[in-house]
Amino acid sequence: MQYVALHDLENRAMKVVVDTETCTACGLCEDACPKVFRLGDEYAEVIADPVPAADEEAARKTVEDCPVGAISVKE
Ligand code: SF4
Repeated sequence: MQYVALHDLENRAMKVVVDTETCTACGLCEDACPKVFRLGDEYAEVIADPVPAADEEAARKTVEDCPVGAISVKE
């Protein structure tokens, strides 16, 4: 049996960050992954921190698809 310390689980959680200076508020991330991103008046906001495991794949694809590279992943 393998035990995993709680802090290891926390360190493994995926987090995403939107660079508000770079974001153009195009809305792609909200359309593609609405459980994680919400479009505000001037830039997208992250509404799931950390990203739920079930949404990680969609979030990663959204990071790649952001047209200006404004989203980064922190794990
Ligand atoms: S896809 Fe990128 S540029 Fe468009 S709203 Fe989301 S973070 Fe901003």
